Amino acid sequence: MTIYRATVIDTPDDPFAGGVLRCDQDAGLLVRQGQIVARGPFSDVRALHPHEEVRTLEGGMLIPGLVDTHVHYPQVRAIGGLGKPLLQWLEHTALPEEARLADSGHARTLAQEFIGSLLGVGTTSALVFGSHFPGAVDALFTEADHAGVRITTGLVVSDRLLRPDLLTTPESAYGESVSLAQRWHGRGRLRYAVTPRFSFSCSDAVLAACGAAFADIDGAFVTSHVNENPVEVSQVRQMFGGTSYVGTYDAHGLLSRRSVLAHNVHPTDAELATLAARNATVAHCPTSNAALGSGLFPLRRHLDAGVRVAMGSDVGAGTGFNLLKEGLQAYFMQQLQPDGVPLTPAHLLHLVTTAGADALALDGVGHLGEGMAFDAVWVRPPPLSSLAINLRHAADPDEALAKVFALSTPADVERVWVGGVDVTR
Ligand SMILES: [Zn+2]
Repeated sequence: MTIYRATVIDTPDDPFAGGVLRCDQDAGLLVRQGQIVARGPFSDVRALHPHEEVRTLEGGMLIPGLVDTHVHYPQVRAIGGLGKPLLQWLEHTALPEEARLADSGHARTLAQEFIGSLLGVGTTSALVFGSHFPGAVDALFTEADHAGVRITTGLVVSDRLLRPDLLTTPESAYGESVSLAQRWHGRGRLRYAVTPRFSFSCSDAVLAACGAAFADIDGAFVTSHVNENPVEVSQVRQMFGGTSYVGTYDAHGLLSRRSVLAHNVHPTDAELATLAARNATVAHCPTSNAALGSGLFPLRRHLDAGVRVAMGSDVGAGTGFNLLKEGLQAYFMQQLQPDGVPLTPAHLLHLVTTAGADALALDGVGHLGEGMAFDAVWVRPPPLSSLAINLRHAADPDEALAKVFALSTPADVERVWVGGVDVTR
């Protein structure tokens, strides 16, 4: 067993429901076989366990491992394609990169780059948009299994309006999804996600195949995109004879407690009511929404409707893997709206940790209390950096955490653990 001594900050209680930031300036976390078995003031934990090894994390703060609920594996090298709205960005920036994953050697290299990029910013759990190619999805599962990171992903399927090499049929979509799930779903920390790309590129027949796969893979997840861009939204409504975007998924049984739809920047009230009724989650991806000019996320309407919200980096439309930056951008997006939700540092930490764990139904992940997995990130900036200077002069934990959201970069991630194992890159 090991006692980790650190300043520990987390959000066990939902700040949107009145919870406040939990901070212990000199905490002791006793970790046995990857699980936190005791937490308290360091002196107390030490007194009860005088013979255990102590690991002192001096400076900075220890926060829970970050949970990214929307990120694209094939788009590691597509980050920074600025200046285009969604449909043009897909055609010219993202999809050419996605097509390259037909090459299994390239897919293996990209899988290593992708998992390394997640761990490099402290993301220890993720719901990942996989590839259109089954071999590339195998490569991602293999690399994730090797790294020990908690990954839920699957085969991306579409049967229209994308470049021809990315299209499939309803029969292949079902068969290949179930086959991949048989190989990987439930193995170690891996789970399967049925993944129609978006209704724009999916006929009713392929969505029905996805619904069948979701019904047949016990405990699977569903992920897709919804209501991202006004042009896309109106075209989807036309293609489906007036059905709402959310309704195109609901019609095939794809919305549930284990469904996560990215964006939802332009929902109707009826769509929000449907998402709430199905207990589905929306992945808010603010740097992507800003970079593609998609719009300002209506967080207040989601909260009022009772729709679960978590955060995603949406790499590569998003501008990087760093979820702390997404938290800051979420704060900006709310500040810019007349009815925006004033987000506190506790809200931001909740959104990138406990809310994500809840969205992905990862019991035992999301905060650093007793009984939880030791998935943790030690944020410790170099001593002369502006973040370090600001942390030394922070008045209280909320202020210190605000400075981390404002100023931290991946270079400040000193160490990362998943299930008690140091996975620092
Ligand atoms: Zn996306």
